[in-house]
Amino acid sequence: MKVEVMKNILGENDKIADDNRKLFKDKKVFVINLMGSPGSGKTSLLELTIAKLKDEIKIAVIEGDLFTAKDAERIERHNVPVIQINTAGGCHLDAAMVRRAAESLNLDELNLIIVENVGNLVCPAEFDVGENVKAVVLSITEGDDKPLKYPLIFKESAVTILNKIDILPFTNFNLESAHEDLTTLHPGIKIIETSCTNGKGLDDWCNWIKNSIC
Ligand code: MG
Ligand code: ZN
Repeated sequence: MKVEVMKNILGENDKIADDNRKLFKDKKVFVINLMGSPGSGKTSLLELTIAKLKDEIKIAVIEGDLFTAKDAERIERHNVPVIQINTAGGCHLDAAMVRRAAESLNLDELNLIIVENVGNLVCPAEFDVGENVKAVVLSITEGDDKPLKYPLIFKESAVTILNKIDILPFTNFNLESAHEDLTTLHPGIKIIETSCTNGKGLDDWCNWIKNSIC
């Protein structure tokens, strides 16, 4: 029974997600669904990404959050359009939420929307929101075991951003085994090591975005 209900929910979501994807394609807007645990550094990465790209690319952000607008307020300071979605405790964004948010944006004036999903390594990966690509941020502090423990999100994502790489020497995170596990789960996955503190890898990430858009 529970499985049936979940199938129906996901089926309905997929229909709306396909509509979203058509809309974004018509409007020539590339959409990244940015996922990762709470505290992995999604918003910090976004802030630096916007700072680097906003003169070249017209960016908007859709911020998913349980209750607050704290992340949206951080993005707003960078003078790009940002729409806040509060899920009121819901642990992921779905296609209908992203549709409503997209309707408040002027899509004709955008090249890129980055959707910051609710901090969670599980169900955001199950809900297509109509994005072109999913990307997942995994920070060094979370441990190298996460790809094998939460395989779906890493299988679904075109890119894994290994964030907070600057603190690697102070942890027992095994970088080699993380790379191995990621490429075993998802052959061909792009892995970018980043630090929002010292800027490492941010050019790679921004170049990957630019190349994906055109
Ligand atoms: Mg955030
Ligand atoms: Zn959820």
